[in-house]
Amino acid sequence: MVSKLKLMFFFFHLISIVVLALDLSKLHGNISNNPSDIKAASLDFGNMRYVEALAVMYPNSAHDIVELIKKSYQSEKAFPVSPKGSGHSLYGQAQVADGVVIDMTGTKVSLQERKQPAQGSKGSYVDVWGGDLWVNVLNWTVTYGLAPKSWTNYLYVTVGGTLSNAGVGGQSYIHGPQISNVYELDVVTGKGELKTCSKDENSELFYSVLGGLGQFGIITRARIALEPAPECVVLIHLMYLDFSIFTKDIEYLISLHEKPANERFDSIHSSVLIDQGGVRYVLEVVKYFSKLTEDTVRQEIIETLLKKLDFIPSSTTSSISLTYFDFLDQLRQMELDLRRKGLLDVPHPWITLLVPKSKIGEFDKGIFKGILGSNSNGWIVMKPLLENKWDVRTSVVLPDEDIFYAILMLRSAIDTGEGTKAKLDFIINQNREIIKFCKENELGVKGYMAHHETQEEWIEHYGDKWDLIYKRKIEFDPKHILGTGQHIFQYSSVFREGISSVNCEVEG
Ligand SMILES: Cc1cc2nc3c(=O)[nH]c(=O)nc-3n(C[C@H](O)[C@H](O)[C@H](O)COP(=O)(O)OP(=O)(O)OC[C@H]3O[C@@H](n4cnc5c(N)ncnc54)[C@H](O)[C@@H]3O)c2cc1C
Repeated sequence: MVSKLKLMFFFFHLISIVVLALDLSKLHGNISNNPSDIKAASLDFGNMRYVEALAVMYPNSAHDIVELIKKSYQSEKAFPVSPKGSGHSLYGQAQVADGVVIDMTGTKVSLQERKQPAQGSKGSYVDVWGGDLWVNVLNWTVTYGLAPKSWTNYLYVTVGGTLSNAGVGGQSYIHGPQISNVYELDVVTGKGELKTCSKDENSELFYSVLGGLGQFGIITRARIALEPAPECVVLIHLMYLDFSIFTKDIEYLISLHEKPANERFDSIHSSVLIDQGGVRYVLEVVKYFSKLTEDTVRQEIIETLLKKLDFIPSSTTSSISLTYFDFLDQLRQMELDLRRKGLLDVPHPWITLLVPKSKIGEFDKGIFKGILGSNSNGWIVMKPLLENKWDVRTSVVLPDEDIFYAILMLRSAIDTGEGTKAKLDFIINQNREIIKFCKENELGVKGYMAHHETQEEWIEHYGDKWDLIYKRKIEFDPKHILGTGQHIFQYSSVFREGISSVNCEVEG
């Protein structure tokens, strides 16, 4: 009897998929069910999950997206839709089972709609397509002598993709994350409405979408704040063996965040090196300069800023000068090298945690010097962040402290003799141990670009913010069409808890 029911369910499911596929073909936007397009849309950089989409849309405009979402919203059985940027998610967050992936990176749109930077009451800005890569935004704005203020370490990700998380980097301690440097957005909601939003207009939608993990709307245009583009940077690496001295220096440097530019660094970033020799910490400090000011800037660094720090003097690597672009694009070379060696298409079970300052010493002892042992097998990055540079009205959740660190553990399952699967299992198990350690020791850690499988875990992740997130979902995506790959709102429980009051018909 049970297997008969299962068979019937499968049969009806298959029919509804075929009907949907035929229906989608009537839409104007460029929709493909070509197997190679589907395959590309069903996998991400994480390389651990393959979730097959039914079709892929390559929108020519925001209106194509409106039409697709309206189609879903107005059908009796809504189908899921996920925007996908450059697909650098790790755990299938932009994927969708039996639904449509919107490939936001369509260059047609970006080229057609790219506007020149302009001057507004708050400063210079540029309007860009949500699927534009940050590297293209940079290349475009520098031709006008301008550049965005806040960056991630890697530029081949999309504006919509990083704004859905936060976008943190070395400049965030001064300017805040990328979500703090946006003036206005155009968003297609889960009801298929195209809305312009900002702090002053449709503000609830604006704050929902920033850090919203693609749950409340699809960003089709973002107005990004700009500053005069620096010409060059001087980059210095400082070495530490003592973690408390290392973090004391970092915290001193970030306390200068409101100082005039000549009295602080422009970017602060650090790495943790773990090998047989033990644990070492490298602080990377950066100062911008123009060719005319190079000598003065170098003098300022040596005479004022470095003098206050307690790094190991003999280990200071000589300072390097780079163009601003080469500085921001440093990871590209590494990426291309890995690709050439065939080491990029491996599973990437990366995790990123936001750790409050008061617990960072325990984190070092228990994780860097404990769980990770003598070989971290990857790159560990630490970025200091200031809570007051973030807007609490966005959908992001942060640790409950003024200062916290984003710790990116970028460890990939590269086979070093034990086999890829064994390496992957090893890292995943260590990741579990790390999370368990943080919980058991009540470190107050929050996940960044978090990945959870159950709604209970998400409720725990959001803590006091859960009710707001839930309310926002009901308001902007009542049929749970968007972002199902995040597994935040499981259909059955949303339905059970009364979302039916908004006439919900959701596909499971
Ligand atoms: C090498 C590397 C280095 C990185 N360094 C940093 C770093 O320094 N700092 C940092 O903060 N992050 C960093 N990241 C993480 C990166 O910012 C995120 O993975 C980001 O989401 C990638 O953007 P994407 O375009 O690939 O998004 P995708 O992976 O395609 O999508 C991410 C999420 O956003 C949603 N989404 C995509 N586009 C839109 C849109 N237009 N509107 C609404 N939702 C959308 C998707 O549905 C999905 O849920 C790094 C990643 C890599 C691979």
